[in-house]
Amino acid sequence: MSDISSILQGGYNHATSRLWQSERSLRKASLMYPIFITDIPDAEENISSLPGQKRWGINKLEGFLKPLVEKGLKSLILFGVPTSGKDATGSKADDPDGPVILAVKLIRDKFPELFIACDVCLCEYTDHGHCGYLNEDGTIDNLASVKRIAEVAINYSKAGAHCVAPSDMMDGRIKAIKESLIRENLGNKILLMSYSAKFASSFYGPFRYGSHYNKCSASFRIITQQRFKFTEKLQTLHQLLVIVNATNFPQMPEV
Ligand SMILES: [Zn+2]
Repeated sequence: MSDISSILQGGYNHATSRLWQSERSLRKASLMYPIFITDIPDAEENISSLPGQKRWGINKLEGFLKPLVEKGLKSLILFGVPTSGKDATGSKADDPDGPVILAVKLIRDKFPELFIACDVCLCEYTDHGHCGYLNEDGTIDNLASVKRIAEVAINYSKAGAHCVAPSDMMDGRIKAIKESLIRENLGNKILLMSYSAKFASSFYGPFRYGSHYNKCSASFRIITQQRFKFTEKLQTLHQLLVIVNATNFPQMPEV
């Protein structure tokens, strides 16, 4: 195995991700549509917390996406929303017959130009609602969680995703995913996008409701950033963005 821990080429393997890095402007291709995909094949369910948005079943996906693609949709991000089979370890996260992997394969087949990102997390699939494995005392087992999250990312990549986007808050999972991608010879093909800067607040509640059927009992204060002064929040976000920029969206000189 190579001793490098990061391959930048995965960030510009696809035409859409190259465009994101070519210049700073707002256009249709800049927008990524979040798709909530359930394991009920014919589902078309309103999400009360996100008016106008729905959870879709695999059989409804092509019909929903077709007019959007014709209007210029270039990319989407998939959130799996299982209705059953939750367990302590989120084993359904990368089920080959689960909603995310089925959706990736269908979209690659029907809309080959579309850029597909997959949210990578375990909380939709765990019965306790946390994004990782738990120790007996209820705290996060970080090492085991990171290992499993990397495994899920690899399986989404192998199914055909162009981008894996971890939204958990486990320490070290970016390194673990990168090393796994390199080990699987996917490092130069898959974009890795971390977008988790979650604070202990209610701002992401409506979105979280869209990706979960049931309210979970978990307290996310054990893994989210705590409330603090606004300038300190900006510093934290800036640090995260610097990390993302340095690893996934480098500003390259023109050649
Ligand atoms: Zn999560």
